Amino acid sequence: MSTTSDVKTYSNFINGEWVAAASGQTCENRNPADTRELIGIFQRSGAAEVNLAVEAAHAAFATWSKVPAPRRAEILMKAAALLEQRKEAFAHDMTREMGKVLKETRGDIQEAIDCGNFFAGEGRRMYGVTTPSELPNKFTMATRNPVGVVAMICPWNFPMAIPSWKIFPALVAGNTCVIKPAEYTPLSVYNFVSVLTEAGVPAGVVNIVTGHGSEVGSPLMAHPLVRAVSFTGSSEVGCIIGENCARSFKRCSLELGGKNPMIVLDDANLELALEGALWGAFGTTGQRCTATSRIILQKGIYKKFIDELVMRSKLLRLGNGLDPKVDVGPVVSKSQMETILGYIELGKGEGSRLVTGGNPFDRADYKHGFFIEPTVFGDVEPQMRVAQEEIFGPVVSCIPCDSLEDGIQIANNVKYGLSSSLYTKDVNRAFAAIRDLDAGITYINAPTIGAEVHLPFGGVKQTGNGHREGGVGALDFYTEWKAVYVDYSDKLQKAQIDRPE
Ligand code: NAD
Repeated sequence: MSTTSDVKTYSNFINGEWVAAASGQTCENRNPADTRELIGIFQRSGAAEVNLAVEAAHAAFATWSKVPAPRRAEILMKAAALLEQRKEAFAHDMTREMGKVLKETRGDIQEAIDCGNFFAGEGRRMYGVTTPSELPNKFTMATRNPVGVVAMICPWNFPMAIPSWKIFPALVAGNTCVIKPAEYTPLSVYNFVSVLTEAGVPAGVVNIVTGHGSEVGSPLMAHPLVRAVSFTGSSEVGCIIGENCARSFKRCSLELGGKNPMIVLDDANLELALEGALWGAFGTTGQRCTATSRIILQKGIYKKFIDELVMRSKLLRLGNGLDPKVDVGPVVSKSQMETILGYIELGKGEGSRLVTGGNPFDRADYKHGFFIEPTVFGDVEPQMRVAQEEIFGPVVSCIPCDSLEDGIQIANNVKYGLSSSLYTKDVNRAFAAIRDLDAGITYINAPTIGAEVHLPFGGVKQTGNGHREGGVGALDFYTEWKAVYVDYSDKLQKAQIDRPE
């Protein structure tokens, strides 16, 4: 096992240089599948490093914002190509630092590659608007300007994909940034930023400051030179960030939690729905904001579906995500494991039926990791806490429903609204559900996970504050609209007042 002497210590990356925390304190990054493995040592930074990084980003903005967007886009394209070359090594690092299985960490990096290529394309589009003026000999248009320094605060479950959703559109639009990785996954952010630097992103344009939320995230979002904050994480922290940004009039994008429903009707292809349920609920060990955490089953197939789901859940292989035979990796940390086990106890106490799982997976060779058996609750009532609150682990609640309308009512009756799904063969019902499911994302005959970078990503209600990542709409967050009026009439013309008699 690795010891501190053979493990790399990473400094903050500020203005193209390595900067240690003034406090001299560090944090350890350990493998959640086997905590004896130390992956890296990272700085436990504070306001001093945040200041340096924001000032560097502010200075770099003056030149980066004036580089023509198609030139900036060429750097993004190079970065995407470099990610492709390093995909395997970066996927291994990611599995070691946060646990999800290798095929999923490869997918995480592929998402960053897709995102780079997509937003590189925007370098030659980033369309504005030209529109006729109401006055003669006057030209009107609206153009996009970069916002300035953007603070980015990230979670650990998509360690490279989520930073890429933020950094690529920000850069192509001409912004600079300071990114704070999650405590559990700084290495993947370093890997990502190393590729950006190699591709030609100049010093100061992208800066990394590592450390705790309250010690780095708080001063970062509050810094007066920061113009926008892009946050992905829990609704609790999102609320704190939203309040703070409002006080200083900062633009703020919040991508928060979910409690995503999959509705399965009696007429569904059950085999397909079961496959989707297993992937949606237990992929990434249930630690996706879009994870399927409620399965709402029409009564005709309710019992059969649960019996089959239990049988298949028991066949999933738990273990270290580097082993290609493993289906489900560990959860990210001890505290996450305790939270999930707490919810399992709560579910039992609330009167739902634990039909499989529910225990830590404590085989001798796994005792140094954070493993929980895939867990299914049956006979869950919609108001129970396990059906209302985000658990963020391999736990799914099965809820009976009478009809599509009943299923949609149950699906919508939570405070979140990120993803949703319906399994049916009836096209009329599918379109009714697309209209009526109160969520930012709806899948038909697919589970609640599987977003693609060129579509808008985000949710309604307490899942966010109305912004979307992904797709061209992301540029709306990273640009300010400027309306431009050019009067070539050589006389004073008054809008709304000069009208034909
Ligand atoms: P978290 O809210 O605990 O932490 C997210 C980030 O915020 C971390 O970098 C953390 O250090 C920082 N932070 C914590 N306290 C802070 C504070 N007071 N001020 C500033 N920053 C602070 O979330 P997490 O545990 O890392 O991630 C899991 C959560 O993220 C889940 O709720 C999940 O649903 C959500 N998530 C949402 C999406 C989405 O796009 N909707 C995607 C992935 C994850």
